[in-house]
Amino acid sequence: VIRREADKHDVRVYLVGGMVRDLILGLENNDLDFMVEGNIKYYLRALSRTFEENYTYNDKFKTGRIRLNSGYNLDFAVARSEVYTSPGALPEVETGEIVEDLFRRDFTVNALAIGVDSQNWGTLIDFFGGIHDIEHKKLRVLHRFSFLDDPTRIIRGLRLALRLGFSFQDKTNLLMKEALKFGNFKRISKPRIIKEFSLLFSKKMDRRITGLLKQFPIFHLLDLDPRVDESKFSIIKRAECILDYFRQKNYNIKEWLIRMVVLLDGVEEKKLANWGLNRGEREILTFPSVIDTIIDKLRTNSTPLKLKKLLEGFTLEQILLLLIYTEGKERKQVYKYINYLSKVDLKINGHDLIELGLKPGPVIKEVLDKVWEAKVDNGLKTRE
Ligand code: ATP
Repeated sequence: VIRREADKHDVRVYLVGGMVRDLILGLENNDLDFMVEGNIKYYLRALSRTFEENYTYNDKFKTGRIRLNSGYNLDFAVARSEVYTSPGALPEVETGEIVEDLFRRDFTVNALAIGVDSQNWGTLIDFFGGIHDIEHKKLRVLHRFSFLDDPTRIIRGLRLALRLGFSFQDKTNLLMKEALKFGNFKRISKPRIIKEFSLLFSKKMDRRITGLLKQFPIFHLLDLDPRVDESKFSIIKRAECILDYFRQKNYNIKEWLIRMVVLLDGVEEKKLANWGLNRGEREILTFPSVIDTIIDKLRTNSTPLKLKKLLEGFTLEQILLLLIYTEGKERKQVYKYINYLSKVDLKINGHDLIELGLKPGPVIKEVLDKVWEAKVDNGLKTRE
């Protein structure tokens, strides 16, 4: 369909980026990025009609998307040929739009394209040695200003290295370190950086992470300089165990925030001002500052009702952090809350009690608490 409609509308279409890389590596990927030379809007409309699926189109950026029922996401963009300000960054090849577009990409392994219209059908475009780098399992930038142009590529690089099991080519390795050491990150948008961090930390971490973070102190991009060494790995392992356990129980967890907290030992509120996070997310990142107080309370709050009152205001991520940072008896209390107490709710509420003749006031809450306690008591006995 992609090919037929391209021919009909006389546009050049290329499959580009990660999907080409993953095709060559034999990895699964549901996101197909296409670069279109020609009238993208008509092309999209025609595709959408033939696929019988809706499409979205952004006229300003000339990008569009079709989500297929089969689970594939098709993204379309016109070729981007930005001019780089540094003369050394300009390509020395005679370029068509596609080459300029590919030159703007992060790593050579992502700068491959395959023609999918009849004129270019099956033509692999590899101007920057991406195939060679895939064969040698190397991540290499396209020019030496790449990380200064866009430092988020450093975080993308780490994500790619972990996902593919690739390492950085020597020069790229050096450029990353230099950028992290000397780069000025004041002007880059923090939310963009956070977006990349959230993707990096959305996947389970293994032993490689501490080594990578030590070599490439990417938290500098957020103006932070935590100590990340091998000793961190025990807490990471514990966090991963807890995340595994709750993931299997189908809890919907913002895992990346938990990994950020563990690696950073929390973040000070004042640092978070322009990260573009909502209040809940900020409260998770700053949570370690109050954990000790909560642990103290866990020691003394022995009844189920007190435990519930202490923990019910916290988000799931905060509860999981408590599990990560507590031991022994306190940890057991938190497990008891999340696995059992938090699920006990009453079928009656204050309105029902008023209808039964109780006067509105504090007594309502007291009665509801008593009923809740009785229900828990009963439940605990049955469980025992
Ligand atoms: P994948 O590479 O598997 O598609 P991804 O989900 O990170 O991973 P996107 O963010 O959708 O990919 O980006 C698609 C393509 O766009 C990448 O393969 C890369 O070629 C390019 N790209 C994305 N972000 C950047 C960036 N900051 N600098 C340069 N190129 C980028």
